Amino acid sequence: MRKSVGSLAIVLLITLSASASLAKGPSDGRHHAARADRSTSAKGHRRRGATAVLMRRAAPPAPPPIHPDSVGSPNDGKLIGGVHLDTSRAELRIVPSHLSGDVRWGLPSLVSLVERAARGVAKRYPGSVLDIGDLSRKGGGEIARHHSHESGRDADLGFYVVDGKGKQIHAASFLKIDASLHATSVPGARFDAGRNWALVEMLVTDPHARVSHIFIAEPLRQVLLAQGRARGVSQGVLDRAAIAMMQPHNSLPHDDHMHVRISCPHDAKDRCIEVAKNAPTGRSRTAHARAQRHRPVLRTPAPAKHAAVPHHPAAVAAPAPPDEAAADSAEVKDALDETGTVKITD
Ligand SMILES: [Zn+2]
Repeated sequence: MRKSVGSLAIVLLITLSASASLAKGPSDGRHHAARADRSTSAKGHRRRGATAVLMRRAAPPAPPPIHPDSVGSPNDGKLIGGVHLDTSRAELRIVPSHLSGDVRWGLPSLVSLVERAARGVAKRYPGSVLDIGDLSRKGGGEIARHHSHESGRDADLGFYVVDGKGKQIHAASFLKIDASLHATSVPGARFDAGRNWALVEMLVTDPHARVSHIFIAEPLRQVLLAQGRARGVSQGVLDRAAIAMMQPHNSLPHDDHMHVRISCPHDAKDRCIEVAKNAPTGRSRTAHARAQRHRPVLRTPAPAKHAAVPHHPAAVAAPAPPDEAAADSAEVKDALDETGTVKITD
């Protein structure tokens, strides 16, 4: 009996000792190192040992991180610390006519938004590939074919277009869509309202980026909103899409691609300029109003002005935010420019 009590005590002691060691957790290594140090008598040895441990643990010196920044406005701005779109992704394709120039840079939030949206559509419609046009240059600034795309917040995305069997079609350039929702240059090809709505839905509901604009021809905007409604999407998402989508005033109609723009990053409100028609909410409202006071504003034209617009009974008109009232003539003129050979767009 006494023997078994003694054994129990030994087991208990060992257990307690092990628990104490475990409780030290992450410092375990240091504990052993310190014990090893104690076995040497010279202080210098201890110091050198400690230095060696520190050196082993120190990360290699990294260059100071460049904080991504969008400076100025999309029409007159620059991009700092931008990232490149991952063009190797299976659900993305650069449209051949837009291959020239390294113009696939943007704020990390924009680039990841495009990648997530393409992935989301491909998940809902397996095999879908999103056609990509221009984003921004590495450092932003002036870019061929565009008046904007200067500050890393803009991306041109092609429409999902399918043939008579519902198979996606990819062309050498963006496919222009007419009022009957057919591609003007490819017989039998049509605008895929389901996939294009899915894209818009992914964009406006993205949890990490806030889309301020989706420039798109008004007839297509109406078709997409009707599609969202037919799919039973919530009124909140429909309203969000209705506000984000707009045909720019007196500009190219955006009937062959959609132009997506994200809002300024929250921490860049003092140097990033919004030209959004959307009234932001919360704390950004004041800054937005201040920035808008003398800034150009684009408006969604009233559907009645477009003779070619197919009337859709389920279509909703975008509510007009109060700060949309002042259209800026300089911006409108700018958007009107066309050089004849080179198509200028937003
Ligand atoms: Zn564009």
